[in-house]
Amino acid sequence: MKDAPKVVVIGCGPAGLMAATVLSEAGLPVDVYDSKGSAGRKFLVAGRGGLNLTHSEDKDIFAARYGNHAQFFKKLLGVFSPDDLRSWLSDLGVETFVGTSGRVFPKDATASDILKIWLETLSRRGVAFHFRYRWQGFTQTANPLFLAEGGERREVPADSVLLALGGASWPQTGSDGSWTEILAAKDVRITPFRPANCGVEVAWSEHFKSRFSGKPLKNLLLRCGDHQATGDVTVTDHGLEGSPVYTLSAIIRDRLEKNKPVPLILDLKRDLSLKCIQEKLEQRRTKESLANFLRKALRLGGTAYSLLREFCPPEDLTNPPILASRIKSLSIPINSTRPLAEAISSAGGIAFQEVDEDLMLHKLPGVFVAGEMLDWEAPTGGYLLQGAFSTGYHAAQGILNRLNRSRT
Ligand SMILES: Cc1cc2nc3c(=O)[nH]c(=O)nc-3n(C[C@H](O)[C@H](O)[C@H](O)COP(=O)(O)OP(=O)(O)OC[C@H]3O[C@@H](n4cnc5c(N)ncnc54)[C@H](O)[C@@H]3O)c2cc1C
Repeated sequence: MKDAPKVVVIGCGPAGLMAATVLSEAGLPVDVYDSKGSAGRKFLVAGRGGLNLTHSEDKDIFAARYGNHAQFFKKLLGVFSPDDLRSWLSDLGVETFVGTSGRVFPKDATASDILKIWLETLSRRGVAFHFRYRWQGFTQTANPLFLAEGGERREVPADSVLLALGGASWPQTGSDGSWTEILAAKDVRITPFRPANCGVEVAWSEHFKSRFSGKPLKNLLLRCGDHQATGDVTVTDHGLEGSPVYTLSAIIRDRLEKNKPVPLILDLKRDLSLKCIQEKLEQRRTKESLANFLRKALRLGGTAYSLLREFCPPEDLTNPPILASRIKSLSIPINSTRPLAEAISSAGGIAFQEVDEDLMLHKLPGVFVAGEMLDWEAPTGGYLLQGAFSTGYHAAQGILNRLNRSRT
């Protein structure tokens, strides 16, 4: 061990911890640094809403979730697949199950349980953790340089460095994107960060906002251009949140960036046909209020009714064929996406042209990168964590390959 090459992992999220796992398993001494006072803060936040670790779908469909980088991720998923993740977790003592949607969750463990067991395992293997050390860049001799919270500057000798500093959403968890300046100064091309898997903004009337903020709209179908998503949505002060909104948010964001108008089309009654809704609406007696009738005949509650009032001229509401078509496709103008800081993940980061097959930076030999700091994005569904785990695993193997080559 005395003469073993020294590896420094910077960033103690899922990608960095997976890299430390691979490197320490190979018998290397590993030092992990993080600017925060503890590990895996975003992972813990992810655990709050039901930790969706990965997905059980077919590998090709899975890889396609990474859009432009599907080919690269297909290769990566071959190296560390969703099944590999599940069996690695099982070895750790964490069993998983596949939910009805095909998403994979831990059976009995919380994110905090998993993190605890993981960190203990790594510590037993000799991985040393150094918290409250912010990475500042590299010294003249290419060693990583840190600034401790107390003001101490520390140069750490390293044969290889793995950066896993995350994206730029939820900066309070530590992934604040501040590393971009350091790498940009080294001519590493970085695509600006943008929100991904985020809510959208709608200019509600004060009346609608005050009465319905926080209320759910159940079992909708949402459409934007050729794309669609189904599920429940929540009205917020700012607009709309919820899984189908997050699914469409990248398309909405891209259209907004091109200054294209973005109507989000809501099907408020996706289990009934237009014809069936129209027939029901035609049975309404004039004495009965529309709100009551919609609730009883179509099971459309107060929020859906008020949403129709919010976006339809009054005459549309009294005309059954027009009202039926509004219920099936209500157009909501979207002003913008919610800010990056609130998004579940970020698009943007280190451009893939800047790294080789092993995720080493061309411009900084010996420096590897992994996780959300790379310029990829994926929807929710376990693809983000699997992406972080698989890139962490792959980059660590890249380090091992390089160190082996330098020994021979
Ligand atoms: C609300 C929410 C819910 C989510 N739910 C899910 C889910 O259910 N399923 C899923 O797949 N994904 C989910 N995600 C996304 C997932 O958590 C992230 O994709 C994942 O954590 C990214 O891992 P990472 O290791 O790349 O980066 P991060 O987890 O962001 O870790 C980066 C680390 O680098 C450290 N760091 C940053 N800069 C420096 C510096 N200069 N010096 C030293 N250290 C630094 C940070 O402190 C941090 O510890 C969720 C995210 C959020 C916000």
